[in-house]
Amino acid sequence: MDYAHNLRPALIDVSPDDAGFDPRDVAEASGIPLENVIQLGRNENPFGPSPRALEAVLDAGANRYPDRSQFVRAISSYTGFPEENVIAGAGLDELIASLCRLFLDPKDRALVFIPTYPYYELQIRLCGALPIHRPLFPAPAIPEGMSGDHKLAFLCSPNNPTGDLLGEEALRAVLESTEGVVFLDEAYAEFAGMSLIDLVLEHENLVVGRTLSKAFGLAGLRLGYAIAPDWIADQYRRCSPAFGISSWSLAAGVASLGDLDHMHRSVARLVSERERMKGAIPEACPSQGNFLYLETEERSAIVAEGLLRKGIAVRDCATIPGCGDHHIRVTVGRPEENDAFLGAYLGGIGRYL
Ligand code: PMP
Repeated sequence: MDYAHNLRPALIDVSPDDAGFDPRDVAEASGIPLENVIQLGRNENPFGPSPRALEAVLDAGANRYPDRSQFVRAISSYTGFPEENVIAGAGLDELIASLCRLFLDPKDRALVFIPTYPYYELQIRLCGALPIHRPLFPAPAIPEGMSGDHKLAFLCSPNNPTGDLLGEEALRAVLESTEGVVFLDEAYAEFAGMSLIDLVLEHENLVVGRTLSKAFGLAGLRLGYAIAPDWIADQYRRCSPAFGISSWSLAAGVASLGDLDHMHRSVARLVSERERMKGAIPEACPSQGNFLYLETEERSAIVAEGLLRKGIAVRDCATIPGCGDHHIRVTVGRPEENDAFLGAYLGGIGRYL
């Protein structure tokens, strides 16, 4: 019996989440031992979390269901928003997926300003809804006559993969020209040192998402949050699982938010490395994240493959709508990892010999 007819038709249009090169594949392709593979493809933080986070994980019990109240309180004091406006999820990806489920029915439309993080599109499609691409450059804009044709609009600042910041005026213009809800993804806000999160106070249609995966170095524990107006936060809590984030992740999150010095030190080191790398590669776009976006002379797939053979994983942006096939994204790593990348890239892999 073929049971596949039970699958939702929406799955036909879905491309799987692309996590980039697996370090094990890099090790195999390069012949370099796994522990020496340089992972600059996932915008992770090489310095890791506060040591206090790891201690807190060891102390957190496992027999009781998790309680997120302390984490929500810690986010409330970190962001300055009341606890009622804080929603949490197992990674920002979970919040993005849940928001899509709150708003999108089959055949609904959602705007995505491209190039940007491709996960929005995946989640829109999983709801059976339709992603509508609009250009991010020179500024995201909703054309006249389109204000009511979408339920959600996605923006990202600093934008993954390009590293650009969204200006306050540009965000206000989008918020005021749509009848939909705007999701602003600030996964990398700490590296930019600026945020538009306060606009949630003024706009009933803005949700701002953040994560502890980047500046706080907790990617493996899956912890994200968003600041949302009351009416959206209430609906989110009605629909998301009460125990969806593990006790270990919550404990690590609370401890990390209690050691902001660690996060600030790690951000300062990465920002200084980012600028050093940018200085060495004239074609790199200015970036406010923990990564650089580079236009390559050769096709990006060839460049990424060349680096792979040297044991260095970067993100080939060819699968990201709007990037074309001549861009790679390189995560800022430890100084010695960045040197290895610069040596390989400037030594010929990124350029015609
Ligand atoms: N938004 C953006 C822009 C990202 O780059 C990422 C991580 N790649 C996420 C969200 C997901 O973050 P998390 O690890 O919290 O799920």
